[in-house]
Amino acid sequence: LPVVAVIGRPNVGKSTLVNRIIGRREAVVEDVPGVTRDRVAYDAEWVGRRFTLVDTGGWAIDARGIHLRVAEQAEIAVDLADAVLFVVDATVGATDDDENCVRLLRRAGKPVVLIANKVDDQRTEADAAALWNLGLGQPWPVSALHGRGSGDALDALLAVLPEFSAMGGAYEREGPRRVALVGRPNVGKSSLLNKLVGHQRVVVDDVAGTTRDPVDELVTLGGRDWRFVDTAGIRRRVHQTRGSDFYASLRTQTALEKAEVAVVLVDASEKISEQDVRVIQQVIDAGRALVIAYNKWDLTDEERRHFLEREIERDLVQIPWAPRANVSARTGRHMDRLVPALDVALESWGTRISTGRLNAFLGEVVAGHPHPVRGGKQPRILFATQAGTQPPRFVLFASGFIEAGYRRFIERRLREEFGFVGTPIEISVRVRE
Ligand code: GDP
Repeated sequence: LPVVAVIGRPNVGKSTLVNRIIGRREAVVEDVPGVTRDRVAYDAEWVGRRFTLVDTGGWAIDARGIHLRVAEQAEIAVDLADAVLFVVDATVGATDDDENCVRLLRRAGKPVVLIANKVDDQRTEADAAALWNLGLGQPWPVSALHGRGSGDALDALLAVLPEFSAMGGAYEREGPRRVALVGRPNVGKSSLLNKLVGHQRVVVDDVAGTTRDPVDELVTLGGRDWRFVDTAGIRRRVHQTRGSDFYASLRTQTALEKAEVAVVLVDASEKISEQDVRVIQQVIDAGRALVIAYNKWDLTDEERRHFLEREIERDLVQIPWAPRANVSARTGRHMDRLVPALDVALESWGTRISTGRLNAFLGEVVAGHPHPVRGGKQPRILFATQAGTQPPRFVLFASGFIEAGYRRFIERRLREEFGFVGTPIEISVRVRE
C-alpha cells in the first residue's frame, strides 16, 4: 500500500487529522505533551482506496522528553512516504519551522497536499488563503476537529497518491516452485534426486543460451509439480579433483540464482563440516528460503545422533528457524516430510506484514525494551515498513544509529511474532542524525 505521512509542527493538529481520517477507530489523542505514542502507522481508506497513514506526532519528543527538530522528523517522514499531508495551523500562519519544512518538501519532490488546519468556520477561511504564500499550491481549509473540509482535502490527496508504495515490490510468479538441491559433494544429492524422481518420467528443460545440457527436472511431489533447478551438475558425477570445492560452490551459486527455495543436504553420519556451514550461509546470503535435510539417517546410531545434535547447537545456532527433515535417500525414510517443509519455508519467504500491524508490534517491543542510550542520546525507531518479500525485507527508520545487537533483538522478536520459519529476513536501518 502507498504510504502517506502526516507532517507538521507540534500542536498543528496532526493526530487529530489522523483520527479524523481513520474514523477514530484506533488512534488515541494524547493531550498530555511529552507522552510518546507507541503507534505511528495505520491502515486507512478513503472512497475505496487504501493506504498506510503515518502519524509523525509521536516523533516530536524523544524518550527523554526532548524535542526533536521538526525538520528532522519531516526528513524521515518524507523519505519513507509516497505522498505527504503537510499540516499548518492556519490561525497562526506560516512560521520559520513551517518554512523549513517547505524547503525540504520541495527538495524531496514528493506529492504534497497542504492542509490549512483549524479553519473551524467561514470566518477563518481567509487565514487559509494566506498560505498560498508557501508555494505548495492550494491550501485546503480543514477543521480536523470538526471534520469540515477534510473530504475535499482527501480527494486532493488521492489525486496525487501513487497506486503502489515505492518500497514494496510487487511480485508475480507462475509455474512450479523452483527448488535447488545443494550440499557438499557426496552428501547424497544425486541419490536423493533419484529417490524423489522414482519411477516418474523425468521431464527435462533446455534453458536456451546457457547450455545444451538438460538442466532442470520437473518432479511431482505431494500432488504438485516442482522444478528442481540445475540438476545437470548433480547428474553428471563430478569427481573429487583439485579445486572441486571451488566448482561445488560455483554450482551452488548458479543453482541458487535460479531457485526460490534450497534443500541443503547434510550428511548426518559425518561431523558437520565447515563446508556444510558455508553452503547454508550461501543460501542465506542469496536470500532464498531454506530447508535442511540430514541425509544418511540409516547410517546413524544413537551415539552419532547425540553428537549431531551437539554439532547443530554449536555450528548452526544462528539459524534455529530452518525447518529440518531427517531423511535417508537409500531407504526413503521421511521423504514425505520434505514437501511440508518446502511449503512452510516458501510461505514464510513470501509473507507480507501490513505496515499498521508491524508498527503496532514494534511499538510494543521498543517500549518494553528501548535501545540503550549511547553518548547521551537514545536512538529511537520511529517507523518500520516491509519493503519487500522473498525474502521479507524490513526498513526501520530511526533517529540515531541502531546497534547490531539491537537489530538482532528486533529480528528475534519479529520471528517470534510472525514466524518466518525457513526464510532469512533482512533488516536495514535508515538514520537521520
Ligand atoms: P552427491 O555427490 O551429493 O550427489 O552424493 P551421491 O548421491 O552421489 O551419494 C554419495 C554416496 O552416498 C553414494 O555412495 C550413495 O550411495 C551414498 N548415499 C546417499 N544417500 C544415502 C543414504 O541415505 N544412506 C546411505 N547409507 N548412503 C547414502
